[in-house]
Amino acid sequence: MRAGQRLDAELKASLEIRQRQGLYRQRQTLYSPQQPQVRLLDQTCLAFCSNDYLGLAADPRVVSALKEGAARYGVGGGASHLVSGHSYAHHALEEALAEFTQRPRALLFSSGYMANLGVLTALLSAQDRVYQDRLNHASLLDGGRLSAARFRRYPHQDVQRLAQWLQQDETSGRRLVVTDGVFSMDGDVARLDDLARICHAENAYLMVDDAHGFGVLGQQGGGCAEAFNLNVDELPILIGTLGKAFGTAGAFVAGSETLIETLIQFARPYIYTTSLPPAVAHATLTSLQLLREEGHRREHLRQLIQQFRTGCQALGLNLMPSSTPIQPLVVGSAQAALAMSDALRARGIWVTAIRPPTVPEGTARLRVTLTASHTSEQVDRLLNALAQASRVDNDQS
Ligand SMILES: *Cc1c(COP(=O)(O)O)cnc(C)c1O
Repeated sequence: MRAGQRLDAELKASLEIRQRQGLYRQRQTLYSPQQPQVRLLDQTCLAFCSNDYLGLAADPRVVSALKEGAARYGVGGGASHLVSGHSYAHHALEEALAEFTQRPRALLFSSGYMANLGVLTALLSAQDRVYQDRLNHASLLDGGRLSAARFRRYPHQDVQRLAQWLQQDETSGRRLVVTDGVFSMDGDVARLDDLARICHAENAYLMVDDAHGFGVLGQQGGGCAEAFNLNVDELPILIGTLGKAFGTAGAFVAGSETLIETLIQFARPYIYTTSLPPAVAHATLTSLQLLREEGHRREHLRQLIQQFRTGCQALGLNLMPSSTPIQPLVVGSAQAALAMSDALRARGIWVTAIRPPTVPEGTARLRVTLTASHTSEQVDRLLNALAQASRVDNDQS
């Protein structure tokens, strides 16, 4: 057997296991922008599974800004930020994000995954400790592992347990408490007032990844920091991503001058990568403006969330306690979640099944997400399809 064949034979074994478990993942190719009606190869369907919460990903004004940015700055960044890839477009966006988050400075990263890895590895070393909610995003967990700090995961939202651990654990090193602002697969909001209080009492530092809060929570879309009114002392390390409600791509860290300078010096995923395309940064200036100013998008979204929850309750569906656009329906087994997703697809509705290891074993779910560009009529169509699909499901079981 040739080496390539031998490698394939080894790899196939784990693929087959994954397939048998109902955990095999496949991509769907989109032939349209990210929007409620998406075109797939053989079907146009109504999608409820993007993170484009404000409907900005294909907004004509953001698209024009991207074109303008490309005309002005070209496409590629051409180098990493510290070599020669730091463009005025990046600079202007960092200034705008700092002002938006009411932090002294902000630093752009190419993705949220890299921002989390970068911050955690730059701030933590072996003598330090990091405490994370069990349901934190994979990038936070990976960053924690990579950092070499002692790593403890507290039960989801169990602030009392966290407080106990902080009281008991002794260390001369630094202690970081890290949480999603809005939990990405559950949609619930972290208890940031309690976490900030505990961190203050125990001399720990709070870090929030607000990937799903920005644009959605707060009067101006300022996310958890705005909703909980947490300043840079109470919440010194704030992460946002630009690929969700902002509708573009990339991520940022907002905090003190010293924090940002530290990241520029020591965050390897910042240093050793090509800068985000400057045109994307330029387009994000426009999406930031829309995100702040067009409060009617948040208002409409709130109404859709209410409509969806009321509808699901009437149908007796297993809705999770969430007030955000992430409205998961827990199904249980991976196979059942896939079957439910297929049943919806047969009715022209696309909701992805989320399975382990993304979520804990036995809690596979349909992660329904609503956006400001959905209409109330479209949410009714989703509810009707769910009613039919769950009826079929019950008949079979
Ligand atoms: C999506 C997400 C990320 C990753 O951001 P990308 O820019 O997509 O890499 C990080 N944290 C959370 C909580 C997320 O939901």
